[in-house]
Amino acid sequence: MSSAPKLTPMFEQYLGIKQEYPDALLFYRMGDFYEVFFEDAQIAARELQIALTSRNPNSETKVPMCGVPHHSVDGYLTQLLEKGYRVAICDQVEDPKQAKGLVRRAVTRVLTPGTVIEDANLASKSHNYLAALWWDADKGAGALAWVDFSTGEWSGLASRRAEILWQWTAKLGPRELLLPLGHEVLPHYAEAAKQVNRLPALPAFDLAAARRELPKVLGVADLSVLDLEDKPELARCCGALLCYLRQTQRHDELGHLGAFRPLNLGDHLILDEVTERNLELFRRLDGKTGRGTLRHVLDETMTAMGGRLLESRLRQPWRMLAPILATQEAVAWLFAEDEQRGRLRMALERVYDLERLSTRVFLGRAAPKDYLALRESLAVLPEVRQALVSTGGDLPTEAAKILSAWDDLEDIRDLLNRALSDNPPPVITEGGLFKPGFDSELDELLELSEHGEAKLKELLEVEQRENDLPKLRLGYNRVFGYYLELSKAAHDRAPEHFIRRQTLANAERYVTPALKELEEKILSAAEILKSLEYKLFQKLRETVAKARPRFMVMAEALATLDYWQSMAEVARRNEWLRPRLHEGLELRIRGGRHPVVEQVQGRGNFIPNDLRLDEFCRLMLITGPNMAGKSTILRQSAIICIMAQMGSYVPASEADIGLVDRVFSRVGASDNLAQGQSTFMVEMMETARILRQATMRSLVILDEIGRGTSTFDGLALAWAVVEEFARRGKGAIRTLFATHYHELTALEGRIPGVRNYTVAIKEWKGDIIFLRRLVPGPSDRSYGIEVARLAGVPDSVVRRAREILSELERAKSGDATVSPRTLSCQTLLPGMGGKPSKVTATAKAAEHPLIQELREIKVDRLTPLEALNLLQTWKNRI
Ligand code: ADP
Repeated sequence: MSSAPKLTPMFEQYLGIKQEYPDALLFYRMGDFYEVFFEDAQIAARELQIALTSRNPNSETKVPMCGVPHHSVDGYLTQLLEKGYRVAICDQVEDPKQAKGLVRRAVTRVLTPGTVIEDANLASKSHNYLAALWWDADKGAGALAWVDFSTGEWSGLASRRAEILWQWTAKLGPRELLLPLGHEVLPHYAEAAKQVNRLPALPAFDLAAARRELPKVLGVADLSVLDLEDKPELARCCGALLCYLRQTQRHDELGHLGAFRPLNLGDHLILDEVTERNLELFRRLDGKTGRGTLRHVLDETMTAMGGRLLESRLRQPWRMLAPILATQEAVAWLFAEDEQRGRLRMALERVYDLERLSTRVFLGRAAPKDYLALRESLAVLPEVRQALVSTGGDLPTEAAKILSAWDDLEDIRDLLNRALSDNPPPVITEGGLFKPGFDSELDELLELSEHGEAKLKELLEVEQRENDLPKLRLGYNRVFGYYLELSKAAHDRAPEHFIRRQTLANAERYVTPALKELEEKILSAAEILKSLEYKLFQKLRETVAKARPRFMVMAEALATLDYWQSMAEVARRNEWLRPRLHEGLELRIRGGRHPVVEQVQGRGNFIPNDLRLDEFCRLMLITGPNMAGKSTILRQSAIICIMAQMGSYVPASEADIGLVDRVFSRVGASDNLAQGQSTFMVEMMETARILRQATMRSLVILDEIGRGTSTFDGLALAWAVVEEFARRGKGAIRTLFATHYHELTALEGRIPGVRNYTVAIKEWKGDIIFLRRLVPGPSDRSYGIEVARLAGVPDSVVRRAREILSELERAKSGDATVSPRTLSCQTLLPGMGGKPSKVTATAKAAEHPLIQELREIKVDRLTPLEALNLLQTWKNRI
């Protein structure tokens, strides 16, 4: 900026402010516009598709510029935030009329994707998290903390495993993640957060600062009250959140944060991010949300708060019996009471987002329509309460608790009723916010200004009459104020006391001393009125803001009620049943269905299945052709457990569920979109993770593990994995294993607890019919060719495949060797290898020396690295 000395004062001010916010686009208020300059303007013009113009800060240089009207700025801000930009809003902080010289300006807030509170930037039924992660590699300890600034909810967890922290980051999907400078994102977690901001470890993650600031913000004596004293890493993360919020928000603006509640993983059923994805809990495999996900099926909530509670429960169902049973009891009550549930739903539908509304009120960022929404929501509270008590019978414990803490917030509703006009202006400063009768002083002033209008009219009439000027007009403009106007033709008849102020082409404008005096009165009344309205509004805001804790109690109560009724409603609609939960390890499901597949296919088209895991069958090995329904059975079993531990009913005719501490779900490389070695690597890493993390209480579902590599490697791995799961500790980990390796079916009888199952099919005139029934025993063969035919592979290819298959089968039984002609076409059958010896070996897997070696390996003595090395040496030998 070589021309800096020549800059106008305005540009000097602009650049001074911009310097402090180098990472944000600076929106600089000028009159009715927010203007953006220099590089920011180029970015904003491009991203917002608005015209780029220029302005001269001095005679030589042209500065790129673009701008948006202040009243429509929100829409533009939303677009920028969605694209990941941060925006600093620079407002005029003194009345331009009072300013001597340049109006003072300052940044009043910095908008960032992770700290927004306006509805336009938020999904109503989802949390919007800002997270901070700290990992101390030397100490081997770290933490993750997160806050939803729009609701004030915050939490976090400490762990000695970096992987766990990143897993949770991926699960929460924060809009922004704060990391100390130099701290790398763990491999494979690049997409865990939408945006990563690196802050200097000092002061952002400073422990001493956290010790000082956290208790202050939360109004407690010290960290021990917050259960953070022995969790320094977590305290650091909380400190970083506060530090970032202070940077982006005004300093006093953190008082709406609720109590910090650390997340205790031991209380929850843990679903890692891979399981969440495989089971399509929140997103489909193609990444889309909505239809086709479990959340979509479960969500019959009527309020944003209930929707967000559902999100949290699905992300972390319970692990303990007590909260599950308490929820079940409440859901069962609303399940039985159709009429009451209907009333409750109708009432809840009219409740707005109390959490986010009261946050905006607290932070002074609520628009008049927000107050109206609060008022309307409060009006419904008595109705909701009524819907609760109207059964007459005993309420479930949890519902009774809610009722005993119930608060209609009548005083606030009364206040809003008396104060707010029914058609408030879009912004507070426009006037007309209050109802007549709310404040006597305000009423008087209003009358005076109306009276003033009448007086003006009277004055005009007197001048018209006394001077015989029937065409005399009264007007107003901002430069001259009120004036009297005569047309050119009549201007020579202007009386002496008319003082000329302005000459137009065909009119003359005058003032009179009496008019000026009256004007003064009217304008000062308008000024007083404006400032009184503002004062009254501030008082109203403060009163409502003070009630925030009460709003939050009710928000939680409404969210819980909404969650229960949603569970009851979906259970009714889909004919689900209340599962029994117990502390044992048995899992018994009769008539189980997949809630999402069933919804997509239509009820009646889905075939229910039974499943039982107990001490005789801990590991179910499911073989059967592709498309038979193996994955569906696996997934539905896991989903039923998850739903049960959310307190929900389940799609089954009977279910006994021994509590699960973790669900692991892995699908083989073949089912993933990307193929190849790296996918196989990921699959193996995930398998390794299960082997490390699974406990006797876990439920593991493995689908086609080992498929992304050559037949031998895959089989060997799958085999070893089955053995490991089946022999963990004293018993076995509850495992459902779908595989195409028929060789594995030989394990039944050799390893206790391993049982073969297959999804039945029927052959009919060369076709196969899928019966979709899970039955004991191994599948007799793979039916791959039949499936290929069903999938539309041309007849010629299908015929040729049959030929090759029968040759291969003859080779297997020793009748013939594989002919060169067969081999030349082996690409038709991927995974069958390239050498004749290999084909024979595959067929007679049990006799191969490698299998012999495999049998003798003590898997529990191998580290994962040794296992991989061993695999490599085997691979080199074949
Ligand atoms: P596999 O894992 O054996 O290849 P899937 O579980 O993916 O087979 O099932 C293939 C398709 O069959 C599913 O997408 C679904 O449409 C249908 N399906 C599976 N199970 C059932 C069932 N029990 N009733 C009706 N349709 C089913």
